[in-house]
Amino acid sequence: MTQPMPQFPRPLPQIDRDHAEWWAGLRRQELLVQECLRCRKQLFPPEPLCPHCHSPEMGWRRSSGIGKVYSWVIVRRPSHPWFADKVPYAVVVVEMQEGFRVVGSIDCPIEKLRDGLPVEAGFEDVDERVTLLRFRVAV
Ligand SMILES: [Zn+2]
Repeated sequence: MTQPMPQFPRPLPQIDRDHAEWWAGLRRQELLVQECLRCRKQLFPPEPLCPHCHSPEMGWRRSSGIGKVYSWVIVRRPSHPWFADKVPYAVVVVEMQEGFRVVGSIDCPIEKLRDGLPVEAGFEDVDERVTLLRFRVAV
C-alpha cells in the first residue's frame, strides 16, 4: 500500500514595496511596466532607481499585453514539491510590443513553443492576494 503524497502549499511570491504596484496591476488584469520619468526607459523587473540614469522618479504604464516569445527554458526538475506533477513546463521570456521583456509562465504545450510565437498576457488568480502572469498563445 502506498502512502498518499503529503500536500504542499503552492509557493507564492512575497509582494514587497518595489513590486506592489506591478502585482496590483495583475490583480486588475493589467500588465504594467515601470517607466523612468526622466529617461523614459521601461524596466522589468521593477527597480527603486533607474539603472540607466539613476533617477528615483519612476512611474507605471499599462502594456498592451501583446508580445512574442523571445526565449524560454524547460523546467524538468521541480524546484519545490508543489511542482512535482507539473514538470516539464516552460518559463518564457516575452518581448512585449512596447519593447521591454518580461518573464512568465505560459499556457502552451512545450513542444509547440517556438521563437517569435505570438502571445498575450493572461492572468491567473491564485488566492485573494496573488494573481500570476500567465501568457497564452494569441489567436
Ligand atoms: Zn532613467
